[in-house]
Amino acid sequence: MTVLIDILKDHRTSEGAGRAAALSAAWEHLTAQEILQQAIHEQFVGDITLSSSFGADSAALLHMVGQIAPDLPVLFLDTDRHFFQTLQYRDELAARLGLKNVINLKADESEAAGEDAKGTLWRTNPDACCDLRKVRPLSRFMDGYSAWISGRKRHQSTTRARLPIVEFDGRHFKVNPLATWTSDDIEAYFKNHDLPPHPLVEQGFPSIGCFTCTKPVAAGEDARSGRWAGTEKVECGIHNPIYGGDGI
Ligand code: SF4
Repeated sequence: MTVLIDILKDHRTSEGAGRAAALSAAWEHLTAQEILQQAIHEQFVGDITLSSSFGADSAALLHMVGQIAPDLPVLFLDTDRHFFQTLQYRDELAARLGLKNVINLKADESEAAGEDAKGTLWRTNPDACCDLRKVRPLSRFMDGYSAWISGRKRHQSTTRARLPIVEFDGRHFKVNPLATWTSDDIEAYFKNHDLPPHPLVEQGFPSIGCFTCTKPVAAGEDARSGRWAGTEKVECGIHNPIYGGDGI
């Protein structure tokens, strides 16, 4: 039985990787709006979500979704440790852009009580804290879907420099419509569509996560260098190759 499950996993993984590679090649030179249109209305109809941090760059992708598919499930990982400015920005953007299906995902209460009773896990073991508050809630919700859209870009960090347009992580397809975008592209999109900036950007936060783990950065520094500053951690874990579940 175990051998049969392994064969099915291998088959699914190679089939998914092949489909992701073919879509990446076909979509590499499409606009972000065309990629969204294809992903939402052609390839993964009713089977795709968008994960958004409602951070510094998020309004661009959210604006496109508001025009192309306002009913799309927009997932916000509510860790209970967000800046209040982020929560206000989430609510204001959702109303302004006509997003009708913003869903707040939280840690399971009994898991949080058992694993982080003191609320200090972010300091003692940030990987475990992100796993509890981001990875598992997203993984549970995504059991009902086969694909999700992310706003990651190649220019953001060395770990994202080779980001494909479409990935397959063993369970889900991930669509990255902004993979080729630069910070100038984002700035121009905000300007052309009169989008409001996240209020913390002007205070030196080019990348915004939980208040416990985000610091402002100096001009010219890597935009993500204020995230988990002073530690080896660079990603929260939701973009690891296979998150949660057994991969099938
Ligand atoms: S970013 Fe920090 S506080 Fe937020 S879930 Fe991760 S470790 Fe916890």
